Amino acid sequence: MTRITLMFSRRLRIKVGAALTACRCFHTEPVGRESSGLPVVHHRKYVCDLPPNHRFPMGKFPRVLYHLIKDQVITEKQVWVPEIASKDVLSCVHTEEYLNNFMSGKTNEQEQRRTGFPWSEGLVRRCRYETGGTVLAAEAALQRGLACSTAGGTHHAFPSYGSGFCLLNDLAVAAKYLMGSSLPKRKVLIVDLDVHQGDGTAFIFKEEPCVFTFSVHCGRNFPLRKQQSDLDVSVEDGLEDEEYLAAVAAHLPRLLETFRPDLVLYDAGVDPHGDDELGRLRLTDQGLYQRDLYVMKSVVSRGVPLAAVVGGGYSRDSDKLAVRHSIVHRAATRVWRECGM
Ligand SMILES: [Zn+2]
Repeated sequence: MTRITLMFSRRLRIKVGAALTACRCFHTEPVGRESSGLPVVHHRKYVCDLPPNHRFPMGKFPRVLYHLIKDQVITEKQVWVPEIASKDVLSCVHTEEYLNNFMSGKTNEQEQRRTGFPWSEGLVRRCRYETGGTVLAAEAALQRGLACSTAGGTHHAFPSYGSGFCLLNDLAVAAKYLMGSSLPKRKVLIVDLDVHQGDGTAFIFKEEPCVFTFSVHCGRNFPLRKQQSDLDVSVEDGLEDEEYLAAVAAHLPRLLETFRPDLVLYDAGVDPHGDDELGRLRLTDQGLYQRDLYVMKSVVSRGVPLAAVVGGGYSRDSDKLAVRHSIVHRAATRVWRECGM
């Protein structure tokens, strides 16, 4: 196991006060706002019905929150409830035609096959709440320094089509929404450590200097045709904890120093895990925990707010998978505590 030494001060200066003044809050329900703990964004409508034996593990989302509360990692008071993402907000990334077709069920069979989901009203609602959740997590991060959603990371969605279980690109919507809600524009760094390349996100921001896309992914995994992120690190099948963590650590500090983001969006996909059904890498639970701790401490210790989403993770055992997804919230809770946030 690689031991990555982290430097961070207990007394951090989070550059958030000024950042917030221009920020329109995205949620209405008062749940969670009184709590002083790590904001955890969750909505019970993050899920929808799927046909029996569908390979997407939809049941994992409520189980992430369940395990976090059961294990006393967080309390219910820490839960922030997002609004559904409006069509207006979504249209900062997606085309009018795509949104109209997706929302009204006019996507054809071929388009649906590409997304991996049969269309339903529940699916539309779920994706819109998930995207609202990522926007709220980003807003909460600007307010409090650090926040996590219990869903999000749908990075294969493009402006005019969905792909690979991703219908709306929540990371891109959150980045655009928050980039544009301040003057001068906020700079957003997207750190995408899901095992699959964040191709939709890379495409969306290829001409946008205020958003930097950094993706570490398995080169032989989906998508076959990669897009060009601002920085792509393609790794080989079978990579283990130590080499993987070294690959992340070789770039992240330099990016933070040179790009100097005002906000980091972190896709903490757990599909690099050795037991993941689609992953092809061989990380352990401990490796994922070290990775999440490293990323969040590196960012937060520089006074930069970070919002994390759970990203991809695939297993027939939704409880095992949910516990794996909760690693990022456990690591965030430790960062929150150790950084005196
Ligand atoms: Zn993935």
